[in-house]
Amino acid sequence: MRRCLVAGNWKMHSTPAETESFLVRFLPLVRSSSAEVVLFPPFTSLDRAGRLLREAGVELGAQDVYFEPQGAFTGAVSPSMLAACGCHYVLVGHSERRHVFGDGDALVRRKLDAAIAGGLDPVLCVGETIAERRGGQTSLVLETQLDAGLRGHSPEAMARIVIAYEPVWAIGTGETATPEQAQEASAWIREWVRCHCGRAAETLRVLYGGSVKLDNARSLLALPDVDGALVGGASLDPEGFAALVAAAEA
Ligand code: PEP
Repeated sequence: MRRCLVAGNWKMHSTPAETESFLVRFLPLVRSSSAEVVLFPPFTSLDRAGRLLREAGVELGAQDVYFEPQGAFTGAVSPSMLAACGCHYVLVGHSERRHVFGDGDALVRRKLDAAIAGGLDPVLCVGETIAERRGGQTSLVLETQLDAGLRGHSPEAMARIVIAYEPVWAIGTGETATPEQAQEASAWIREWVRCHCGRAAETLRVLYGGSVKLDNARSLLALPDVDGALVGGASLDPEGFAALVAAAEA
């Protein structure tokens, strides 16, 4: 059994005070959720969120991490700094990191390895652009990103990795992958993991991300190879996101 995971990626939204207001409204609504709920606020809100989430039954994650433990790396944040704020998870390779900030597969791998070594569970984001999909290259892109991110891990490390399939063309666009497209890509990812990483495939959680909203969540989360959702815009409203979490359980 793979426990459903519903994650909210707040991107560059929410001050610490706004984060606190969100949590005051959100936490009572998801207290008895059977799904695992994770929030990814910006770095500046992590410490405040970490204090408020202690024993709240909702996990905390960071949107990115740097691979060095400390030193002269202006603007960077290390795994131990994130863990000290209460983070359990970290996103690596989110499409905005790849396409806006230029994170390549090699850098994503270094971040993923550093996360694991630093006690954080990485959520590796993979997905194709619309040009790649139209060019029939979806599986080639997924294979390249998975190979770079997953090859050579121990079974223990594999057990801590979550994959988020996020077609770039569906992120923040309002255009969602159809259930058929989401299932096809997620099953393809699981099969790739089965071939290259063995038994980890059965317990691996594959999330779908890309314009998930209350009205499409249920059909996406009912798919056999989709084990949860990575939600951007629709995670910013506490009542709306709590309703989406409830839909995931249904
Ligand atoms: C995301 O940030 O990972 C995401 C999927 O965003 P949105 O839900 O807004 O498309």
